[in-house]
Amino acid sequence: MLIPERLLMGPGPSNPHPDVTQALAAPLVGHLDPYFLQVMDETMSNLRVVFGTDNHHTIPMSATGSGGLETIMLNMLEPGDEAVVGIIGYFGHRLAAMASKAGATVRTLEEDLGQVIDPGRIQAELEKKPAKLVAVVHAETSTGACQPLEEIGKIAHDHGALFVVDCVTSLAGMPVDVDKTGIDAAGSCSQKCIGSPPGLGPVTFGPKAIEASNNRRRTPPTWYFDLSLLFQYWGESDGAKDRVFHHTAPVASIYAFHRALQLILEEGLENRYQRHRDAHCHLVSGLEKLGLSLFTPEAHRLPMLNVVNIPDAIDDVRVRKTLLDRGIEISAGFGPLQGKTWRIGLMGYNADRKRIDILLGELEEVLKEARK
Ligand SMILES: *Cc1c(COP(=O)(O)O)cnc(C)c1O
Repeated sequence: MLIPERLLMGPGPSNPHPDVTQALAAPLVGHLDPYFLQVMDETMSNLRVVFGTDNHHTIPMSATGSGGLETIMLNMLEPGDEAVVGIIGYFGHRLAAMASKAGATVRTLEEDLGQVIDPGRIQAELEKKPAKLVAVVHAETSTGACQPLEEIGKIAHDHGALFVVDCVTSLAGMPVDVDKTGIDAAGSCSQKCIGSPPGLGPVTFGPKAIEASNNRRRTPPTWYFDLSLLFQYWGESDGAKDRVFHHTAPVASIYAFHRALQLILEEGLENRYQRHRDAHCHLVSGLEKLGLSLFTPEAHRLPMLNVVNIPDAIDDVRVRKTLLDRGIEISAGFGPLQGKTWRIGLMGYNADRKRIDILLGELEEVLKEARK
């Protein structure tokens, strides 16, 4: 079967830069090879810059973004703990489910789709009853909304709670600034704005998160995702011990991820964020010319994930299928927004005017054919 070449403008994976794809095919070395240990160190150090943190414990988990988030919950929480989770869409529900699987009693605060959580609600909830952890999704991929973080972080800390953030879609496409924002633990993925293939879940843990993990009453109910075991391989912060085998690191995936991080730093974070904002504006003005509008209120819009209203007269499935036949992937709406919206991702390499113009040109033609 011929492998199709697609322009991936859904919610991820996005197309990697050609250098990243090439890095996948580099000669393999062993996962304890001195060369690979150097790649690991560089990966950790560059990932810290992208997260905006000095946290030693900053690594790509051998799992997709969900696995990174689950690592956070399984190490931070245990039975008897309380967690407060803000929900502005599908991925908030998943954070709550993971916290609950870790054994915590979870209290959720929900908002209407397209809206974001008012920090005052988190404050009121913590005043009613404290919690060990507060978690939110920064970039809610199901609604295209951006949850402001800083104030929630302050409120969480004032009430003695850890602040945990799902920045799977936002990282490397807009500022996350872990240390400045007061995030204690955050998880992302390799295949969205970082721009490497799916398969890795970058995570970072700050001092308070490490302390919480060290002060557990019981060891975490996981072996693969146990932080203390993982860092015997990735290296302790004092560097005193030799690295020991935990699991076989996905060497080729880490080569690609390592190259993707280098490209991000070569471009510069601010330039990259600006490129994503420019791409978003270019897309929105092009969509408007085609008579299309965005679902998400302007005040909350993400640059890298655009939720577009489908006009009543247009056949959703036909548009997506015809676009795919022409080599372009956009995605269906999620949950209650399915059939009503499309999701157009502009992530990493694809946050680019020329690529957006290809999509807009094809979309214009396809829309003409897809009237019901
Ligand atoms: C994509 C996504 C995830 C899941 O990441 P995977 O890499 O698919 O496991 C989690 N949270 C958000 C907000 C996402 O957009």
